[in-house]
Amino acid sequence: MSEVVRKYLRADMMPTIWCPGCGHGIIMGAVIRAIDQLGLDQNKTVIVSGIGCASRAPGYMDFDTLHTTHGRALAFATGIKLANPELTVIVLTGDGDAAAIGGNHLIHAARRNIDITTVCFNNSIYGMTSGQYSPMTPKGYSATTAPYGNIDRPFDLCELVKAAGATYVARSTAAHPRALTDLVAKAISHHGFSFVEAISGCPTYFGRKNKIGDAPAMINWMKEHSVPARAVEKLTPEQRAGKFPIGELYVSEEPEYVDEYVNVIIPRAKERAAKAE
Ligand code: SF4
Ligand code: MG
Repeated sequence: MSEVVRKYLRADMMPTIWCPGCGHGIIMGAVIRAIDQLGLDQNKTVIVSGIGCASRAPGYMDFDTLHTTHGRALAFATGIKLANPELTVIVLTGDGDAAAIGGNHLIHAARRNIDITTVCFNNSIYGMTSGQYSPMTPKGYSATTAPYGNIDRPFDLCELVKAAGATYVARSTAAHPRALTDLVAKAISHHGFSFVEAISGCPTYFGRKNKIGDAPAMINWMKEHSVPARAVEKLTPEQRAGKFPIGELYVSEEPEYVDEYVNVIIPRAKERAAKAE
């Protein structure tokens, strides 16, 4: 573990609960490096999570952290950001937490374009509860609840949040930690709702159920299934099938929710209160 990462960890919470070879430690390391690169104040950075293997990450990170209920991290994070806009608010979530039970909170946070960064650790499965398929399990892959292969079409969560109104969208993987770090740093710097899908490896369930192999094999699987976003257009539909475009996927500027609240709602409320006196 690098000194940079160690500096921001809670030593008394070690070791993590993550299985050997889990990709989540790499993604947590990338988030920490991004925060370090940006020189954020540890006491003004709040990290919020829901429930699941990924959602254990904030407990290991020495910031103001909140481990909330399943799928609700963005609801808590929205309250924190509105109450204290000067804080940097980051949500760490998993694919089940963000795309299933938390799906509505995700699309509405994106729709509001609130200045929160969400990093979704996508291991394509429910890891903590022993490998059920999630809304992000690729079609045809197996899970404990899909022993004959998953027939559901998975969400493309990046496209979903973009369509819902997110103004910064990117994807990377645990096999590309430097690129992931840079994308998380850009997402945090962006003023508005930013979303980074970080594809992770769950060798214990996803890897085993799909006979991909051990942790290094999972890293190779991520590399083989990734394609730089700028190269995707050049691929035929057959070449593109089953591949994840990685890199910066979408950036735009739109009014940010807390700014709107402060600049539009608060003056109107004060005006009405003054008239009522
Ligand atoms: Fe990681 Fe999977 Fe183990 Fe959870 S079950 S800690 S996601 S390897
Ligand atoms: Mg998961």
